[in-house]
Amino acid sequence: MGIIHELPVELSNQIAAGEVIERPASVVKELVENSIDAQATQVLITIQQAGLKLIEVNDNGKGISSDDVEVAFLPHTTSKIANDRDLFNIRTLGFRGEALASIASISKLMVLTSTDGKSAVRAKYSGNELVKKETFARSKGTTITVEDMFFNTPARLKYVKSLHTELNKIVDIVDRLAMGHPDISFRLINEGKDLVWTSGNDNLQQTIAGIYGRTIASHMLEFENSDPDYEIHGFFSKPDTTRSNRSYISLILNGRYIRNFQLTNAVIRGYGSKLMVARFPVAVIDIKMDPSLVDINVHPTKQEVRLSNEGHIGDLISEGIKNRLSDQNLIPDAVKNL
Ligand code: ADP
Ligand code: MG
Repeated sequence: MGIIHELPVELSNQIAAGEVIERPASVVKELVENSIDAQATQVLITIQQAGLKLIEVNDNGKGISSDDVEVAFLPHTTSKIANDRDLFNIRTLGFRGEALASIASISKLMVLTSTDGKSAVRAKYSGNELVKKETFARSKGTTITVEDMFFNTPARLKYVKSLHTELNKIVDIVDRLAMGHPDISFRLINEGKDLVWTSGNDNLQQTIAGIYGRTIASHMLEFENSDPDYEIHGFFSKPDTTRSNRSYISLILNGRYIRNFQLTNAVIRGYGSKLMVARFPVAVIDIKMDPSLVDINVHPTKQEVRLSNEGHIGDLISEGIKNRLSDQNLIPDAVKNL
C-alpha cells in the first residue's frame, strides 16, 4: 500500500500560513490591505501585547455579504481576480485569497460586517470552520478580530521576537500603508495608546508629518519627474537630514509599499556626492504605472516586485531628485530668507 496521502485542509492551511503569516505584523498588513481594497476611508487598528493577544481591524469599507462570510475564510477564495487576464493586471493589494484562511488557521477569529449599515452579520471561526453565525447591528464596514495568534502552533510562536520588536514591525507596516494611501485615515492604538494617526486628507506631506513628525516633513523637498508611462512624485530630505540606514526610504508603487534595491539606490544616487558616507536620506517616492507592466506575483507577502524597465524608472527618480537639489542650490541664502 502507498504511503502518500492528502493533507487534512486544516494542516495544509497552517503550512501555507507559514509563508504569509510570519508574525503579528503580517496579520496587520493583510487585514489592513483588505480594508484598503474594500475602499475604506477610515481604518482603526487596535492591538494588545504587540498583536499576540489581540489584533482588531475596523474599517468603513464595503463590507462582506452574509453569503460571502461563509466562504471568505476558506483557502483560495477571493473576490478580486477571476481569470489569468486579471492576474496580469492587478489593481488591488490582495488577490491570492489566502490571508483570511491562513489567519483563521492559526488564531481565534471573529468577523462583524455589514454591506449596508442596516443589517450585519457576526461570525466566529475555529480553524477554517464557521462555528457560529448570527445577525447583528453595525454601521457599514468590517471589523475583524484576531485573538491568541499562534495558540495552536507553539513552534511558530517561538520565532516571534520580543514584544518590543514585534510592535515596531507593526508600526512600520502601518506607516508604509499610510504613506501609500494619504486619502485614508489610519489610526493604530496599542494598549490604549495612539501610535500612528494620519488625517486621510489626501496630502502626502501631511501624512509624512503624521509619521516622521512635522519638523522633518516640513523641511523635505518635493519633486515630480514623469513621462507618458510613469508618473513619479515624492518628497525627500535635504542632504543635511539623514539616517544611518536605508529603511527611511519608502517606495510606493500603485499604492503598494515595495522593496526594490535598484530603485532605493536610485534615490541615493540622486544626491550625488551630497550625502556623507554611510548616511541615508528620508524619502517617500510614489510611482504610478500601468499595472500590467508589474509582476507582483513574486513572493507571497508581495513586497518584492519585478518591474519591466526598472533602470528607466530609477533614472527618472535620480534625475528628479538631482534636478530639484540643484534648483535648491541656485537660490542664494539671502533670497531664501526673504
Ligand atoms: P484576497 O485579499 O487575496 O482576496 P483574503 O483572504 O485576504 O484574500 O480575503 C478574501 C476575501 O474576503 C476578499 O477577496 C474580500 O472579498 C473579502 N474581504 C476580506 N476583508 C474584507 C474587508 N475588510 N472588507 C470587505 N471585504 C473583505
Ligand atoms: Mg487580502
